[in-house]
Amino acid sequence: MSSAGRYVRQTILPEIGPAGQERLGHATVAVIGLGALGTVSAGLLARAGVGRLRLIDRDVVEVNNLQRQVLFDEGDVDLPKADVAERKLRAANSSVTIDGIAKDVHAANIESLLDGVDLVVDGTDNMELRFLLNELALKRGFPWVYGGAIATQGMAMGIVPRTTACFRCFLPQVPAPGSLATCDTAGILNTVSSVVGSLQATEAIRLLVGEPPRGELLVFDGWAGELQKIRVARRKDCPACVRGETEFLGARRAQVIAAMCGSDTISIDPAHKGDIDLAGVESRLKRLGAVKSLGNILVFEADGARFTLFSDGRALIRGIDDPERARSLYAKYVGM
Ligand SMILES: [Zn+2]
Repeated sequence: MSSAGRYVRQTILPEIGPAGQERLGHATVAVIGLGALGTVSAGLLARAGVGRLRLIDRDVVEVNNLQRQVLFDEGDVDLPKADVAERKLRAANSSVTIDGIAKDVHAANIESLLDGVDLVVDGTDNMELRFLLNELALKRGFPWVYGGAIATQGMAMGIVPRTTACFRCFLPQVPAPGSLATCDTAGILNTVSSVVGSLQATEAIRLLVGEPPRGELLVFDGWAGELQKIRVARRKDCPACVRGETEFLGARRAQVIAAMCGSDTISIDPAHKGDIDLAGVESRLKRLGAVKSLGNILVFEADGARFTLFSDGRALIRGIDDPERARSLYAKYVGM
């Protein structure tokens, strides 16, 4: 399909213009996390003509995602979000390059997953990952756009290394697990997450076309109908952007086991490199019970837990909340 005229409603804006559109077309943007915020920002950035989009998410689509995660439909349940989002957005704009990556982002792989990006949009639900991303952004010098939403409120901020406050200037200590409300315990209004995803995409577009960063946190209250701008100053003693500490980037673990926000799911990412023999695993598991192959993933149930096994060996194990039990189930049914 011809791309002539595709962006005419955008290039006519003085804020963007043909030069801004050209910049968007040459940009590589990663969206980490394809939930309520990430599906909105990724969709808008693809349609706005960001030349290369890398869509990264470790999870598969669940029925309770459909209320707010606008790229997914009922037929996508059980499929990797990254793969579905890639397919949907290729259909929305075939003139940009879209790569879906169904991986868990952690210290051992973040550098390669974000190789060559010009900007990152945070669609994660995970503070530790934001601190890790903050450190890599400082190391490489790329901007990123923080976002979060819970219940009827949300916030977004464009972070430009050593120009604006960094994430750790804003939040010096990692909150203790369980100390923050999660989407599971507090819920989320879909209109609010969609506004915050839009605010993030707007901040991303502004930075990509060369607008100076605001240095402000945007705080949206959907029920009250209020948008506040709060100036966030750089901290003189910030451990990340002033002292250069890399406590998250330095934490290279051989194997990553993570409990996932808002569900009784454990993600296991073994140190193993390269693809595993999914067909072999499938034939072994057939003897134990029902196993379903969905292209490049296997889904099966065993010992009361539901497994989703990806071709790179990563697994999501649902129905349990104990990481050690998840590890032993993985060893029993997949092997490590
Ligand atoms: Zn800082």
